[in-house]
Amino acid sequence: MADPNAECNIKVLCRFRPLNQSEILRGDKFIPVFQGDDTVIVGGKAYAFDQVFPVKATQEDVYNSCAKHIVKDVLGGYNGTIFAYGQTSSGKTHTMEGNLHDPQEMGIIPRIAEDIFEHIFAMDENLEFHIKVSYFEIYMDKIRDLLDVCSCVCFIEGCTERFVTCPEEVMDVIDEGKANRHVAVTNMNEHSSRSHSIFLINIKQENVETEQKLIGKLYLVDLAGSEKVSKTGAEGAVLDEAKNINKSLSALGNVISALAEGTKSHVPYRDSKMTRILQDSLGGNCRTTMFICCSPSSYNDTETKSTLMFGQRAK
Ligand code: ADP
Ligand code: MG
Repeated sequence: MADPNAECNIKVLCRFRPLNQSEILRGDKFIPVFQGDDTVIVGGKAYAFDQVFPVKATQEDVYNSCAKHIVKDVLGGYNGTIFAYGQTSSGKTHTMEGNLHDPQEMGIIPRIAEDIFEHIFAMDENLEFHIKVSYFEIYMDKIRDLLDVCSCVCFIEGCTERFVTCPEEVMDVIDEGKANRHVAVTNMNEHSSRSHSIFLINIKQENVETEQKLIGKLYLVDLAGSEKVSKTGAEGAVLDEAKNINKSLSALGNVISALAEGTKSHVPYRDSKMTRILQDSLGGNCRTTMFICCSPSSYNDTETKSTLMFGQRAK
């Protein structure tokens, strides 16, 4: 389905979370100044995106204005990827997952799951759907299947695939993967900030009358924290991890910015495990959305500026 001449479909959206309790107690300042619905000013510099969500934006607002249309496209046979980029604690997991079991606080993934089945139930009864999901993480350029932590996978084709027939089954798979992820690590917060977690939804449909088939897939990616690890203090394994995260995030940045430039120049997909995996769902006529997640606190202003710069490269 890839059409190399299709216009570039990369959207970059920026979301700021509210100040948290400890930031307020510390007396941190709220630094972003929002201008219209697509620009934010930080430290005197304006950053423009396809859309900027102020802190009061709800999970539903965020979903409706940017992820909803992707469901229709994936059901139409397109591939897509939605990323969340930002430093640890900037709201990536809140945006992608949120609270899976709270209708108000659900993030993008559970809303997509609900939307997919809503569309399907409303569609032509000649269409037969097969939906399967996988859940894995990439850590130090290695894939770990979150639905079968005992297995060693070298390619995502080796990851467990679960057929799902309703949104509740999708939530169950996510809960299972999250529980597995917890078991294998001592400090979950630390771990999740150093690995990329990827939830893949594969939708195959067949028209039983015409036998016409359509396949679309959607990658939902909660990236490793983008914060710089201080050079002093970090050594050995921690430094290796930090270098690896840095390398994989800059490889992603390079791919996105090459795609955004729209030149037919070389797109360096092969520079990291993640970009290799996502290759057929980035660029071309794929739907790509990048959430740039930011802390509003003066305490984090250096990281926030570097996060905003990363997002600008994709514009
Ligand atoms: P990350 O995944 O980037 O490390 P989280 O999504 O876990 O960050 O967010 C850190 C904390 O901030 C969590 O407790 C989360 O619930 C809260 N949070 C993040 N974004 C928002 C938001 N937009 N509104 C309210 N709380 C938020
Ligand atoms: Mg997280």
